[in-house]
Amino acid sequence: MAKHWAEPVTTALRADGLRVSEIDPSATPGFTGDKQLGKQLLSERGAVLSDLQERLFADGRTGGKRSVLLVLQGMDTAGKGGIVRHVIGSVDPQGVDHASFGVPTEEEKQHDFLWRIHKRLPAHGQIGVFDRSHYEDVLVVRVHNLVPQAEWEQRYDLINTFEREVADAGTTIVKVAMFVSLDEQKRRLRERLERPDKHWKFNPSDITERGYWPEYQKAYQAILERTNTDYAPWYVVPADSKWYARLAVTELLIDALNRLELDWPTADFDVDEQLRRLDES
Ligand code: ADP
Repeated sequence: MAKHWAEPVTTALRADGLRVSEIDPSATPGFTGDKQLGKQLLSERGAVLSDLQERLFADGRTGGKRSVLLVLQGMDTAGKGGIVRHVIGSVDPQGVDHASFGVPTEEEKQHDFLWRIHKRLPAHGQIGVFDRSHYEDVLVVRVHNLVPQAEWEQRYDLINTFEREVADAGTTIVKVAMFVSLDEQKRRLRERLERPDKHWKFNPSDITERGYWPEYQKAYQAILERTNTDYAPWYVVPADSKWYARLAVTELLIDALNRLELDWPTADFDVDEQLRRLDES
């Protein structure tokens, strides 16, 4: 177990049996330290994550077929972008494949909802990051009835089948649902409005969506109940404290990479012979 955690992060955040309406977004489950320690640990643990990521990359370069996929879901301002910058930002960019999924393009609309997702799955040795994902097709789509219920109802099973195939092909899937409180979200949206350097992040529809929070809660509850599998588990990350959310996701990725038990690839050349050659050169 990681230092300063009362229980493994995977246990503290596992979504099994959780009621979305009972999530406390200001909580810091499992962590025994405070903000100062959390921030300090983030850089320490980021270095551990970086080392593990390099092993994964090296494994991919030498024929390994493993990869990791981090799926990030959360309401606006929940901090998905901060995870990308501060957690994923601590590893070598050449080992990361970042994909964000917005309103489907005309071309994407011509295909089934998993088409654009398939195309962005991480290659061997990569950490893929989905900033929003196929879950939008049972979240925003469900809340706003963008397709008939009969269609989105089928998607939970389709998603499970899809994720099973992805996992069987060697990808460790880590799904993170970030929850920010309505109060904290209001504060973050106000900041976006009050600071000219943040206007670009603001979208008037973010305020509209706040009114749909009860419907979103139902939609989140459904994904946590219907797509929380052993091969692609959901983790629920309270996100009012940015430092906690970042530390928690760092630990989830460390855990996923540790479970791969990656060794450095063995040399396919005689090291002593090459040292001799080097000395002579
Ligand atoms: P963000 O809000 O994450 O910074 P964007 O400004 O690109 O990124 O917004 C993404 C928007 O696209 C969100 O409002 C999201 O709900 C919407 N979206 C994503 N996937 C779908 C989908 N499959 N159908 C409809 N809307 C979607």
